[in-house]
Amino acid sequence: MKRRDVLKGLTVLPLAGGAIAGVLPETALAAGNSTAAKAAKRDFFKELGVTPIINAQATMTFLSGSTMMPETLEAINSTAHSFVNMYELQDAIGLKIAEMLKCESGMVTSGAASAILLGTAACITGTDKKKIRDMPTPEGPQREVIKLASHRYGWDSIMRTAGVKIIYVKGAEEMEKAFNANTVMCQYFNGAADRDLNYEDFVAIAKKHNIQTMIDIAADVPPVENLYKFQKIGFDLICLSGGKMLRGPQSAGLLYGKKELIDAAKLNHSPYEVPIGRPCKVNKEEMFGMYAALKSFVERDHEKEWQMWLDRIKYIGDKAESIAGVKAETRLPQGYTNNFPGLLLTWDAGSINIDGNQVSKALKDGTPSIQTRGGQGNSLSVGVTLLLDDQVDIVARRIKEVLSAAAAKTAKS
Ligand SMILES: *Cc1c(COP(=O)(O)O)cnc(C)c1O
Repeated sequence: MKRRDVLKGLTVLPLAGGAIAGVLPETALAAGNSTAAKAAKRDFFKELGVTPIINAQATMTFLSGSTMMPETLEAINSTAHSFVNMYELQDAIGLKIAEMLKCESGMVTSGAASAILLGTAACITGTDKKKIRDMPTPEGPQREVIKLASHRYGWDSIMRTAGVKIIYVKGAEEMEKAFNANTVMCQYFNGAADRDLNYEDFVAIAKKHNIQTMIDIAADVPPVENLYKFQKIGFDLICLSGGKMLRGPQSAGLLYGKKELIDAAKLNHSPYEVPIGRPCKVNKEEMFGMYAALKSFVERDHEKEWQMWLDRIKYIGDKAESIAGVKAETRLPQGYTNNFPGLLLTWDAGSINIDGNQVSKALKDGTPSIQTRGGQGNSLSVGVTLLLDDQVDIVARRIKEVLSAAAAKTAKS
């Protein structure tokens, strides 16, 4: 692409975003969709008798993860009516992922969990058709994955689905000794990044033994920098959720990194008929939707979005603090996952005799139903990142109602 075209692309894109924003009540950048924008005539919640919930907590799979960005929905709706060759589509999106994330290649998976499975399978089979067909028990001894014991987590079972045995080690010396002819991969969990070996040392040891590395960063974007960081450090495979803060389709995710491995992972995936990854099929709408969500995320003004979250925290916090005895605090992220600010409310038990779990339950049982997290004693955690624009005031109002009612009751007793 010529430099002029690059510049042209840069100026055109935000404008295009603005045009879409003009149609919707709020800009995509400001927060995402508003409930009014998606009001449909047919009420499926009512029809099925299930309660729609306002998510004032965080992305949780049981609570249907996140809401999709308007761009994601637009991609789903506008592509649903045509057929497409799925191999061609996956390859085309792979090229875009490579360009956007500055890596060799990428693919859309059905969630980060499927990225873990397909990446592990890729390290075992390469492009060998017989091995792919014989997974999870290809000819030969059981394959091994090396992992730091302090990084052990529930998702290890996904790697085991690919037939491997996980060898847990402590420190560089033990890791060095764990390599043998059956070792196929070393896996790192970003949520445990400060435990035992750092990224660089872990990758260096694996490279010394010519073994591929995978990192799970499923819930670790934002910050946006994390999209680019780990391929630079030298990880060969990166697993990311599409349905968390990227706000793509809830059952989509990304696997990206080394082209040779992504090619092998694709051979282990749908639309091929019988490989181990066939149960992790991704439909074309989710592929387009995932691509649109990623593009929207990398092009977003992240500082502006962060400020919008802080503004919401202040708005809800101020309303709550209008009740005597309530204190509002902005909680900044600590650690490597769920990197966004939240609101912590605490109150004086003497003047407001209700605990955090009771407040949380009252909000959940109220109308509309609001999901928050009741903390220890007299505290409540309120998440603001997944609220639709018109839900911020609803949440503020309901919290104030519940705490005021408890304060009035306490005063009387
Ligand atoms: C959420 C999560 C996963 C699974 O991601 P899905 O996209 O839901 O499949 C894997 N690993 C970690 C650390 C996670 O937080």
